[in-house]
Amino acid sequence: MENLRQYPKVELHRHLEGALRFSTLVELARQMGQEVPKDQISQKKMFLVQEPMKDLLTVLQKFMATQSVLATEEILTRIAYEAVEDAHNEGIRILELRYAPTFILQGHPNLNFEKIHRAIVAGVKKAEKFPVAVGLVCIFQRTLPLKDLEKVLDFAIDTKDTWVGVDLADDEAAFPTKNFATLFSKAHQHSFPITIHAGEVPLPIAPKNVLDAIEILGAQRIGHGLQIIHDEKVLRHVVDSKTVLELCPTSNWLTNGVSKLEAHPFRKLMQAGVITTINSDDPGVFGIDLVNEYQLLANSYQFSDQEFEICNDSAAKASFIPLATKQKFWPRKI
Ligand SMILES: [Zn+2]
Repeated sequence: MENLRQYPKVELHRHLEGALRFSTLVELARQMGQEVPKDQISQKKMFLVQEPMKDLLTVLQKFMATQSVLATEEILTRIAYEAVEDAHNEGIRILELRYAPTFILQGHPNLNFEKIHRAIVAGVKKAEKFPVAVGLVCIFQRTLPLKDLEKVLDFAIDTKDTWVGVDLADDEAAFPTKNFATLFSKAHQHSFPITIHAGEVPLPIAPKNVLDAIEILGAQRIGHGLQIIHDEKVLRHVVDSKTVLELCPTSNWLTNGVSKLEAHPFRKLMQAGVITTINSDDPGVFGIDLVNEYQLLANSYQFSDQEFEICNDSAAKASFIPLATKQKFWPRKI
C-alpha cells in the first residue's frame, strides 16, 4: 500500500469519549484546574494507556480523566467536531461514533441526556464540511441497573433520527449478555440496528457472550469478538449468520485480549470466513489512530491491498449509516 493515510477507510468502532484529541485533552484538563505536567512524556503517562494494562483500575483512571473534562455543552460540541476532523485526516470516509450518555452524565449531573446529545449532534453537524459520512451509536453500559438503561433507550427512541444504532459495552464477565434481552428486544422493535461488545476478554464466557449477542440480542455486528477463535462452534455460527466482527488489534493487545500483538487472530478469523473489519476503539486513550492499525496489519501481518479492500468494503456494507449517505463518500459501489 503506497499511502496508508489517504487510503479510504471505514471506522465502525470508535468511542467518542475515547477519541479526544490529545492536545485538547491537555488543554481542557488544565482549564478544569487539573495539575498537568509540562513535558509530553509525563502528560502521556498521565492520560494514555500505552502498554498492556496490569490492572483495570489504572485504565479506569484514564477514562475518568477523560470523563472529567467533558463538562459543558460547548466542550461536547468541540470534541465531536474534532473527532470528525481527525477521522477525516486519517482517510476515514465512513465513521460511526459511539458514546454512552450515562458515562458523560455520571461525571456532570448538571447536564442531562438532551443537552449532551444536542451538543454532540451540533458538533457533528458543524463538521459536515468534511467529506465523511457520520453516524452516532448509543451505548448502554452493562454495569448500570436495567431501569437506568431503559431510560437511555427511551431517550434514544425519542431522538431516533439522530442515531444509526445501539450498542452494549463494559464488563462482559460480570454482566453476561443474556441479562439484557428485554432491553434489546425493545430496541429491535423500534428498528435500531444492533452491535454488541462481546468476546473481548480471554475468559471462557467470552464466546458464549458472542453467541448470546447474536441469538438473544439480535446483534448484526460484534464489537471485538476475537475470542471466538477458541470456540469452533461459535465461530461457525458467526460465519453462517454473516455476523460482522469489529476488530481492534491495538486495543485487544492493551487490554490483554491477546498475549502479544503478533498473536492477534485477525487473519485466522478472516481465513475461517468471518467478516472482519479494522477499527481503533479508543484512539485518544491508546495514543493511536486508524492509520496505526493499518500500519500494524501491513507490517506485522503483511496485509495485502486486497485484504484491506475486502475489510473496508465489508465495513462499508455493514455500516448502520443509511446507504445513500454512506455511498456518497465511498469510492466503490456498496
Ligand atoms: Zn469499544
